[in-house]
Amino acid sequence: MSVLVVADHDLGALSPATARVIHAVSELGPIDLLVIGQDIDAVAAEAARIAGVTRVLVANGASSSDADASLIAALAEPYHFIVQSAGSVGKDRMPRVAAKLDLMPVTDVVKILGPTRFERPIYAGNAVQTVSDGQARHVLTIRASAFRAAAGGNDAPIELIENTAASVARLIAAHRTESDTPDLATAQIVVGGGVALGSAENFQLIEQLAKKLGAAIGATRAAVDAGYAPNDWQVGQTGKIIAPDLYIAIGISGALQHLAGIQGAKKIVAINADPEAPLVKLADVALIGDLFEIIPQLLVELDKAGLKRD
Ligand SMILES: Cc1cc2nc3c(=O)[nH]c(=O)nc-3n(C[C@H](O)[C@H](O)[C@H](O)COP(=O)(O)OP(=O)(O)OC[C@H]3O[C@@H](n4cnc5c(N)ncnc54)[C@H](O)[C@@H]3O)c2cc1C
Repeated sequence: MSVLVVADHDLGALSPATARVIHAVSELGPIDLLVIGQDIDAVAAEAARIAGVTRVLVANGASSSDADASLIAALAEPYHFIVQSAGSVGKDRMPRVAAKLDLMPVTDVVKILGPTRFERPIYAGNAVQTVSDGQARHVLTIRASAFRAAAGGNDAPIELIENTAASVARLIAAHRTESDTPDLATAQIVVGGGVALGSAENFQLIEQLAKKLGAAIGATRAAVDAGYAPNDWQVGQTGKIIAPDLYIAIGISGALQHLAGIQGAKKIVAINADPEAPLVKLADVALIGDLFEIIPQLLVELDKAGLKRD
């Protein structure tokens, strides 16, 4: 059985999600890794280093969901598994691929039990469903945060392939949030803030702490809706799914929809005024008190420990 993984990349760099997807599917068969886009030589070189990749296929050309889906569907014939991470690109692209191949996609896979059995969360992460899709070929999206990354050190061959897919869609502009913090979905430490911060200015306390710890910044939907934090920091059912080694949740109650996004967190520290808050009960360590007193003290202590404040 063979596997075609479609790489995630942005701004000329391979996304860390790709190595996690490779690790997830490593037992299913030999893996070809497809890189689609423009100016992707460096991405292809990075892709070739991931352990477990047999070949890197490079399709140069403007990328758009419908054109990419046509290309992937055209390449899919020899593969039993066609796979991408369940990030925003994979979520957009892979259902189109599945439709073109007349297959049912299995989305958000968090565990592969065998070649035809997959686990995926349902009911906002409150239950896990085992799916056996009964198909000869499978289109999967993988929740990358549920898997560790494949190692490096490989030197897989890179092959250019013709990108014949055409699209009626044209990319006019891309508007992105500038950030010097790690990617939320793959960060090892995440500092999350809730609506208790009270304003966008106060939310800078979360940003200061995150920067000092080299952490990504998360937020609840309530904080995002209040305008304290940008949309793409939202963690939860309708935001990003995170699986850091450490999640520091500050002024966050722990609503089910927020918990749906943090189930992969290995250790949770909660800072909250309410000892009865659900997230406090779930946390490995809880600091009960006013966040406006605790965070400045934490920043001072981190300074003393040798981590310089920005
Ligand atoms: C369909 C749907 C989808 C949703 N999707 C998401 C999602 O993806 N992500 C998400 O986060 N939410 C989501 N929500 C919203 C969710 O239900 C909650 O409303 C939200 O998570 C609450 O955010 P919060 O913890 O910041 O606010 P609150 O629930 O208001 O909690 C604030 C917390 O701060 C504490 N606090 C207050 N002041 C201080 C202080 N000075 N110091 C320390 N602690 C203090 C309080 O004790 C409390 O625990 C969704 C809701 C719906 C209906």
